[in-house]
Amino acid sequence: MYLSKLFIPITKDVPSEAKIKSHQLMIRTGMIKQSSAGIYSWLPLGFKVMKKIEQIVREEQNLIGAQEMLMPTIQSSEIWKESGRYDDYGEEMLRIKDRQGREMLYGPTNEELITDIFRSSLKSYKSLPQILYHIQWKFRDEMRPRFGVMRCREFFMKDAYSFDLSDAEAKKSYNKMFYSYIRTFNRLGLKAIPMAADTGPIGGDLSHEFIILAETGESQIFADKQIFEIDLNQYELTEQSLNKMRRDFSSIYAVTDEKFKEEDFAKNVKKENQIRTKGIEVGHIFYFGDKYSKPLNGLIDSHGGKKVAVKMGSYGIGVSRLVGAAIEANYKNDVMKWPKSISPFDVVIITSMGKNSNENLKKAEKIYKELKKQNIDVLLDDVDENMSNKFKKHDLIGIPYQVILGSKSDGDKIEFKELNFESEMLNLESIKSKLKKD
Ligand code: ATP
Ligand code: MG
Repeated sequence: MYLSKLFIPITKDVPSEAKIKSHQLMIRTGMIKQSSAGIYSWLPLGFKVMKKIEQIVREEQNLIGAQEMLMPTIQSSEIWKESGRYDDYGEEMLRIKDRQGREMLYGPTNEELITDIFRSSLKSYKSLPQILYHIQWKFRDEMRPRFGVMRCREFFMKDAYSFDLSDAEAKKSYNKMFYSYIRTFNRLGLKAIPMAADTGPIGGDLSHEFIILAETGESQIFADKQIFEIDLNQYELTEQSLNKMRRDFSSIYAVTDEKFKEEDFAKNVKKENQIRTKGIEVGHIFYFGDKYSKPLNGLIDSHGGKKVAVKMGSYGIGVSRLVGAAIEANYKNDVMKWPKSISPFDVVIITSMGKNSNENLKKAEKIYKELKKQNIDVLLDDVDENMSNKFKKHDLIGIPYQVILGSKSDGDKIEFKELNFESEMLNLESIKSKLKKD
C-alpha cells in the first residue's frame, strides 16, 4: 500500500474528552472516527489492527477445539425473560421494538441465546463436551462511555460458551480456555495477568479476569513480577499439564485492590519483585454451572438416562478494547511501537522526496516489490513532505520497522531502523531476513 493512496485522516485536532493516550493516538492517526457517544467507525488503519487481533484470538480458540459460529446482534426478549435477566440487566440493555411491537434487544452478551440453541439441538451426554464461540458486536448502554474504544457502547467481543456433564468435566473446559487466553495474550505481545475474581454465590476460584498492565487502567494491580517469568512453552493440552499451569499461576501473588492487603504483599513478595500499577481488563472467564441451563431447561440425558441441567461456562475477550489496550501498553515517550503480530503493516519504506526524489522512489518501489514477494505487508511513504515530519508521523503510526531511503542509503547499503533503536546499514537480503515472519 502507498501512503498517498491510503485513507488515513491524520489530524492534530484531538477532542478535549480524549483523556488517555490510546484515545488520542487513535484519533490522531485516523484509526477510528466517533459516530456518536461510545460508538465508532473503524477506519482502514484501525480496522487492520483489530482484524489481526481477531485472527489470533480465533486461531487460539480453534486450537483448543472451540468451534466458531455466529449469532445475531439483535435478540428476542423472550429468552431473557425466561432466564430472569430481562429486568435485572437494567439500563445497560438497549431495548428495541420491531414493527409488530415485539420487544427485541441488541445483545450485550449471549448466554441466553446460546443456551436456547443448545437445548433444542443436543440431548445426550454423548455429545459433550462442546465449546462454541463467536466474534460479534455487542451493545451495552454504558453510563459513561469513555477512553475511546476502551469503554464503548458498541464493541467487538469474542465470547465462548462451554457445555459439560459435570463440574469436574467443566473444570477441564475451563482450564483449556485458561491456556488459550495465556497463549492469546502472549501472541498479542501483551503481558496479561490472570487474576482470580469473585464468583459470587457459586464460590470456588473458577473465575479469572485477565488484566494487562497500564498506568491508565481502571483496576489497581499488585503482583509479583515472577508471574511473567513462567515459561509458557512447558505447557501442553493435556489434563495434567493444564492442571499444573493453573497451579503455577495461582501460586504467584497477583491481586486487584479488592483483595489487596499491604501485609500479605510484604510477606509473599520480595521488595524488588513487587509490581504496583494499574491494569486494563481484556478478558474474563467464568464458570457458572447451571445458572442459565436450569431456568432455560438446558437439559441432557446423563449416563443413567436421568435428565440433568448442562454445566456451562462463558469466556469473553474484548477484541476492540485490546486495540486501545495495546496502545496503552506500548506507547512511550511519544513513540508508539506496535507488537509485530498486530502491527497494521510489517514495515514502512520512508522515502525522502527532496532533491533525489525520483531516484529514491524508484529504489523504494523495487524494495517494495521484493518485500511483497516475501509476503511482507509493506507501507510505502511516498507523501511529499519533509523527512522530519515523516519521522514524527511514523513515530505515531507505530510500524515497528523502517526502511529509510534518504541521504544515508547508498548503493547496496540501505538504512534500516527498528523503532526505539539506532538505525543500521544493511543490504536487501539482510532486511528480508530481519522481517521474516516467525
Ligand atoms: P468491565 O468491568 O470492564 O465493564 P465486564 O466485566 O462488564 O467488563 P465482560 O462482561 O466480562 O466485561 O466482557 C468481556 C470482555 O469484554 C471484557 O473483559 C472487556 O475486555 C470487554 N468489554 C466489556 N465491556 C466493554 C465495553 N463497554 N467496551 C469495550 N470492551 C468491553
Ligand atoms: Mg461492564
